[in-house]
Amino acid sequence: MGIVVQKFGGSSVANTDKLFNVCKHIIKEYEKGNYVVVVVSAQGKTTDELIKEEQEITKMPNKREHDVLVSVGEQITISKLAMCLDKLGYKAISYTGWQLPIITTSVHGNARVKNIDTEKINNSLQEGYIVILAGFQGIDEQQDITTLGRGGSDTTAVAVAAVLGAEKCDIYTDVDGVYSSDPRVIRDVKKLNKISYDEMLELSSLGAKVLHNRCVEIGKKYDIPIYVKSTFEKESDGTLVTSQESLEDLSISGVTKEDNIVRITLIGKDNKIGRIYKVFSILADNDINVDIISQSFGEHICKDISFSINEKDLVETLELLNKYSEELNIKEIKDDKLYSKISIIGIGIANNPKVKAALFETLYENNINMHMISTSEIKISVLVNMTMADSALKALHKKFIEG
Ligand code: ADP
Ligand code: ASP
Ligand code: MG
Repeated sequence: MGIVVQKFGGSSVANTDKLFNVCKHIIKEYEKGNYVVVVVSAQGKTTDELIKEEQEITKMPNKREHDVLVSVGEQITISKLAMCLDKLGYKAISYTGWQLPIITTSVHGNARVKNIDTEKINNSLQEGYIVILAGFQGIDEQQDITTLGRGGSDTTAVAVAAVLGAEKCDIYTDVDGVYSSDPRVIRDVKKLNKISYDEMLELSSLGAKVLHNRCVEIGKKYDIPIYVKSTFEKESDGTLVTSQESLEDLSISGVTKEDNIVRITLIGKDNKIGRIYKVFSILADNDINVDIISQSFGEHICKDISFSINEKDLVETLELLNKYSEELNIKEIKDDKLYSKISIIGIGIANNPKVKAALFETLYENNINMHMISTSEIKISVLVNMTMADSALKALHKKFIEG
């Protein structure tokens, strides 16, 4: 008898009919003789609705209270799903993150899992229960509720699979696997039957929201096979995320898009050493995630710094930079919005200098301007105007995947 972890996302549990549909997948695994642990998200768009209501009150919510609010959705789902299973004649018990507990760091809105107490889960499994856990949430060492970041239920699921030594973690969602790009935006996408943890990590970090990037990190660290499957389609093979390399024989495995990016430029008053260190320390101390960074020499050899952030952090970033502008010797702060980050990902980038040139050429031919560029061994990312993002995504998918 092995332990299997199953995770069902928001669209899979959106209403009562869908909850009963989810029960079929759970019961099937249970009837095979497995111990089944289920992790669920909030129903449908519940988390978005909660954030909308919060925004009616304030654009800069207290981070602790934000987590108290947005963690609520998952608690609704676990109780309802346990009731559905009970109605079908199966013993099920639900636990929130704080009941187990799932201990996390204190970074509200983007906390990391530090430890999961498995005692309640194991006892309930031994007693014959199907265990239903709330995804996305935990508590920190001060007993405050935390959340793991948008899409974080995937991370709860793989972390739970890791601490339980589960055979596998099945991520059930509204598409039947991982594709070369978002199937809702690109028509001729290619399904990936298998993908390595490293490539999947880049795909999800760069915008493929089908998996939360940190669940892939944990999967890689503890060697948990992650299967991405459809909740709604019968017996689809899905995609296996594993440690094996070069699985698809594709030099480029995916093209991704991340929206709502702002570029901040700091025009310096001088060229003194230390500004970069101070700016990014202030932002890091306030848990603001900076992505692409570039430095250039402006007028009178003054150093200018540009960097990109998510729009959700704009108000706080500007507030901090204005507060410290004297100390940082900043003459002017500019914020340019809104951009999208388009990335191509694949092991073929490392050894082929022609890939970068081909990417720039494709965007040029489509009259799409780039505003920032960053590269690594297995990815190239560019910022383009958000209005041009889908055209850029389509053009690059055509060039590198469809051929
Ligand atoms: P869930 O609510 O089940 O967690 P998400 O909405 O978080 O589901 O993730 C599934 C969605 O991810 C799909 O509906 C799809 O539009 C999107 N997506 C983006 N990029 C990809 C990709 N490369 N492959 C598959 N799905 C993708
Ligand atoms: N409900 C949370 C969100 O919408 C977590 C999740 O769905 O994974 O981001
Ligand atoms: Mg998700």
